[in-house]
Amino acid sequence: MGKVILVGAGPGDPGLLTVKGREALEGAGVVVYDRLVSPEILALIPAGAKRIDVGKNAGSHPVPQEEINQILLEEGQKDQVVVRLKGGDPFLFGRGGEELELLAAHGVPFEEVPGITSAIAAPAYGGIPVTHRDFCSSLHIVTGHRRAGAALDIDFEALVRTGGTLVFLMGVSALPDICAGLLAAGMDASTPAAVVERGTTPAQRRISAALAGLPARAAEAGVQSPAVIVVGGVCALAEEFDWFGRLPLKGRTVVVTRPKERSGTLSRRLRALGAQVWEYPCIETVPLEPCPALEEALSRLGEYEWLALTSPAGAEYLWSALERSGRDARALSGVRIAALGSGTARALEAHGLRPDFVPEVYDAAHLGAGLAERARGKVLILRAREGSHALTAALEGAKLEYDDVATYETRYENPRSAALRRAVEEGAVDLVTFTSASTVKGFVSSVGEADFSRILGVCIGEQTAAEARKYGIPVAVARKAALESLTACAVEAVSGMEASKEESRWT
Ligand code: SAH
Repeated sequence: MGKVILVGAGPGDPGLLTVKGREALEGAGVVVYDRLVSPEILALIPAGAKRIDVGKNAGSHPVPQEEINQILLEEGQKDQVVVRLKGGDPFLFGRGGEELELLAAHGVPFEEVPGITSAIAAPAYGGIPVTHRDFCSSLHIVTGHRRAGAALDIDFEALVRTGGTLVFLMGVSALPDICAGLLAAGMDASTPAAVVERGTTPAQRRISAALAGLPARAAEAGVQSPAVIVVGGVCALAEEFDWFGRLPLKGRTVVVTRPKERSGTLSRRLRALGAQVWEYPCIETVPLEPCPALEEALSRLGEYEWLALTSPAGAEYLWSALERSGRDARALSGVRIAALGSGTARALEAHGLRPDFVPEVYDAAHLGAGLAERARGKVLILRAREGSHALTAALEGAKLEYDDVATYETRYENPRSAALRRAVEEGAVDLVTFTSASTVKGFVSSVGEADFSRILGVCIGEQTAAEARKYGIPVAVARKAALESLTACAVEAVSGMEASKEESRWT
């Protein structure tokens, strides 16, 4: 028999999935999931696992609860691990208990992995600690859900008497009734209150107001589910503690164009700065296999003084070629290594190889100039087909012998994307990161000819920036060929945009 693991996915920020929850997910044969689970967490589902989407939309229930219970029972009776992934914590207004009843009745083994609940995390990301000794000594979590046509079944007098912080889930449509109920039960009209919509996600909004004014403010802002309502003195701290709202890229949409296998770190960094990240891999690197020229060159490694690598992909394909021929890092012991960009250096270091030279400036010309200064013997260049001529020109200028071997090619991965084009034209995209000239070409080929004046291309290297300018994309150029420098450049550009907005307000 298998087992069913009920896993809390947390409130939205993928970083708030627990370690135990992630482990359960990675070992799942079947995953049954809800609407509120973020795409980043769904991306952790193993490729071979079966996915069952039982997502409910507020008001419409595509998969009735009884049916979900039945699915869990059927899948759980097979010899496999079934993960039931639910938003927030499974047992807090998550019907987790109901789902276990049927399993228990049939003797299907189960476990529960608690999750971080939106009831605490959404206020926290909104700058509101749900308790604070100066304000309250209890926290009450209440559902604002009511059956169609029925009145709210909440004992407002009892709640008001506690003097504790009140958090309402599923309360957006009942917000006016909740506030009216509290006021009628004697709560002070000026009690601080807030609504946190899509808490812990880059799209989070917090609307703060005194209790009596909250429904009007929320309606004005067009607040929609999912949102939590918080009532109590602690809400007065929200401005002072608004750490999430103050993240430098909060509210900005950034398109990441790197190849899929390399977008993770950059996306994570941007999200940590508050950005809404849209991963849109525009290029794909494909190794040339078989690659006789590479095999040939590797069999004559002793002839070369320097080996030059221009990308992490180049470093990885070199390594797999060595492995295929039954060799390891020792094969490179006699040759000096030059690497373009810290990502390439890291890819080498992962295999115990530290490059002897990494140019300060990230482009082929500087790599070439650096080699021209340092090299006396023959240079082996391993890179993409149609690599920049600037590198070989510099070597020729210094009368150095070289072999320029293509080990992979760059393909433009995406067909035309109407959604991306629309987003660019409507100004829904703020920044686009470009890590190479080929990502610029790939991006433009996905969007088509368009007015790019409303986006900002954040580029690594002058070569990349020059490519972007060709298509009329305004650019900011990172100082160094490193992701830290790229994200710092994005932050600087955004604060620049804000400063100029401030200025235009005054002039
Ligand atoms: N088990 C979940 C709650 C499920 S009930 C948990 O522990 O979080 C669904 C309600 O949760 C929504 O109506 C909303 O009130 C709240 N909610 C879920 N995700 C939220 C989010 N990211 N921001 C604000 N509220 C959220």
